[in-house]
Amino acid sequence: MTMSNSAHERADLSDKLRSLPSVDRVLSEPALGEAAARWPRAHVVEAVREELASARSMLSNGREASVTASEIAESAQRALEGQLRPSLRPVINATGVVIHTNLGRAPVSEAAARAMSEAAGGYSNLEYDLDGGKRGSRANHLESLLQALTGAEAGIAVNNNAAALFLAMAAYCHGREVIVSRGQAVEIGGGFRIPDVLRDAGATLVEVGTTNRTRPSDYAAAMGEDTAAILRVHSSNFRIVGFTEEPSLAELRTVADSNGNGVPTLLIDDVGSGCLLDTRQFGLAYEPRPQDSIEAGADLVLFSGDKLLSGPQAGLIVGKRSAVDRLRSHALMRVLRLDKAAIAGLSATLQHYLLGEAVECVPVWRMIAAEPEQLRERAEMWRAAVGAGETESSDSPIGGGSLPAETRPTFVWSLDHPHPAAAARALRGREIPVIARVEHERLILDPRTVLADEDSAVIEALRQLVGGLD
Ligand SMILES: *Cc1c(COP(=O)(O)O)cnc(C)c1O
Repeated sequence: MTMSNSAHERADLSDKLRSLPSVDRVLSEPALGEAAARWPRAHVVEAVREELASARSMLSNGREASVTASEIAESAQRALEGQLRPSLRPVINATGVVIHTNLGRAPVSEAAARAMSEAAGGYSNLEYDLDGGKRGSRANHLESLLQALTGAEAGIAVNNNAAALFLAMAAYCHGREVIVSRGQAVEIGGGFRIPDVLRDAGATLVEVGTTNRTRPSDYAAAMGEDTAAILRVHSSNFRIVGFTEEPSLAELRTVADSNGNGVPTLLIDDVGSGCLLDTRQFGLAYEPRPQDSIEAGADLVLFSGDKLLSGPQAGLIVGKRSAVDRLRSHALMRVLRLDKAAIAGLSATLQHYLLGEAVECVPVWRMIAAEPEQLRERAEMWRAAVGAGETESSDSPIGGGSLPAETRPTFVWSLDHPHPAAAARALRGREIPVIARVEHERLILDPRTVLADEDSAVIEALRQLVGGLD
């Protein structure tokens, strides 16, 4: 009797499936010894079952699969190791983009990182009054620093700047109108749209002026008895150039005060990046500072903690005492409150500014301040150590949520690579991923955003990459 081809195949397949080892057999493999010692048994058994099931399904689909007990044990061991690898991992930012939203925005200073770790790893007086030995308030830890740095009467912190804006809108503008220039009713990024935030907070958006030009009289004409606030939003991620006009904050103050019906109109300024230094000293465009907005008469000024401030993720709200206190006691404050580690990190970060040491101690400012000549030396040092590539002048973008289109001159290490995108992928695939740029078919690494203690890791990564080319 002869068998048809497909019958042969079926018999062959069932042979293969039968020859797959049992779970117990795989569990006795030395390759699993390490995992077996470390993981609860049920977990190891489950990993082995999954590897066996996947081998079975590959064979059934006519594909080749690892079928020996030691092969299954090895892949189960790898799968278990993979579960221990954290999803959130440190990377080396060699893109030159200083505030890189996808790479976690700003690194915090050493002092801030230490303070965050201490606050996280122990108890603290987060909500405890040490003098009285009774309940205190978490909202008070940052206030005196914020007052000193911005000249504001009061200050509080929430989870991020989006939360700060939502809180201000919910507390002051629910069921009422907020006047915003058409050029500022924008999307900030990641689907965060000003009109949506206002709507979700129960406020009615009243758009005035045009995309490129809005005058004080446009705001004045829109004021009425339902007007709760005038909101100014800094255009953090785009720029309208050319035939443009926006009123100054001082002009908006005058308009807000002119609301004739005795209902005070709040002037709220969302400045975005929380830039406490004068960016013009680094040859950059002027970036609005919270202290300037306070001086110009804003009732509330909102900004992020992790953009140009270079602290942990947070939203800071400074302004008039009565305006800030209403937010402090609002029910949403409990929803949006800041974590203790972030409070500790922010406090340490703000102290650098108070001591006038921000350019030396705060990573973002150290990076922005780095001169092309220093960066050329580092790029040259990389080139010499790697023994390949070139150095060339380029530009480092300041990046997301601040100073759109602004760059600082830099020197980069660059490589003429046959497959630059594949090279960039190989650098991303390392144990400590190195994130590079590909520009004009060249692989580019910018030392501006590489921390000093990361130089050797970058050199090692580039050596291996270049070595793989031979
Ligand atoms: C970045 C930004 C926000 C959002 O701040 P997060 O801290 O990311 O929540 C809001 N407004 C402006 C103008 C911004 O630039």
